[in-house]
Amino acid sequence: MNELLELRNVSVSYGGRPALDSVNLSIAHGAQVAVVGPNGAGKSTLFKALVGLLPLRSGQILIHGRPAAEYSDPVAYVPQREEVDWRFPVTVADVVAMGRYGRRRWLKRLSDADRELVLKSLERLGIANLARRPIGELSGGQQQRVFLARALAQEPHVLLLDEPFTGVDIATRKATLELLSGLRARSVTVLVSTHDLDLAAGRFDEVVLLNGRLISAGPPREVFTHEHLQAAFGGQMVVIDGKAIVVDQCCGGHGPVGGVDSCRCDTCEPPDGGGGEIR
Ligand code: ADP
Ligand code: MG
Repeated sequence: MNELLELRNVSVSYGGRPALDSVNLSIAHGAQVAVVGPNGAGKSTLFKALVGLLPLRSGQILIHGRPAAEYSDPVAYVPQREEVDWRFPVTVADVVAMGRYGRRRWLKRLSDADRELVLKSLERLGIANLARRPIGELSGGQQQRVFLARALAQEPHVLLLDEPFTGVDIATRKATLELLSGLRARSVTVLVSTHDLDLAAGRFDEVVLLNGRLISAGPPREVFTHEHLQAAFGGQMVVIDGKAIVVDQCCGGHGPVGGVDSCRCDTCEPPDGGGGEIR
């Protein structure tokens, strides 16, 4: 498989406070990759940097060996649920149609082929019957599927899903996994952030383990070692019968075994950069 996506020494910060530090990463064309790490590890930051929503403090992101900025259309991004304003007055069909607008000039009407693709995407996610409904009226799982349909309509080469399995119903989880299987057949490169380590180990080709920096990347067996998990999750990790289990996505404000300094969760590390004190 060829390299599709490459990060060279990528650092991102918020107001001078580092969120990702010198990340080097290569993702092969068609790979399905789980992005894993505790809260505050920089998973969402990584995705936003990949779609150009955040400037890089340093480094480069390349797609097919060229700067990612030249390739915004083929990268589809489904943000974490909390980051979307669901009160925005727009119908399901409108949201999915937005997946087609990136490819055409401003104000140009969608073609029949575009409309057909929008409809197919709605059907594929089982929400064609909701097309005329405002997104704000839907359940969380339905809203998630609207965004997946929009991403599908975009016909992406790269799909970024930020925590698509967090807080959704079983039907949506199943629809999302089926979508991923379909995309595998079409060699779409997929990055999915998740807190579900079993899913990451069992369902993905590669895992990227983050905690502000890249801890490890590669096949799940090589990434999910006790050392790597300890480096990423610190005191959130316990070992039971030889199996590493992450007990909580936040250190609970008590600080991990390695000390509060090594926990990057928002409880321990206030946004003003207050030096890791517990609030
Ligand atoms: P994750 O998605 O892994 O939970 P994020 O990428 O959201 O992590 O956050 C990484 C770090 O950047 C955290 O310390 C978080 O507090 C900080 N951060 C995220 N978004 C912002 C923002 N808009 N302004 C300031 N700091 C932010
Ligand atoms: Mg996040």
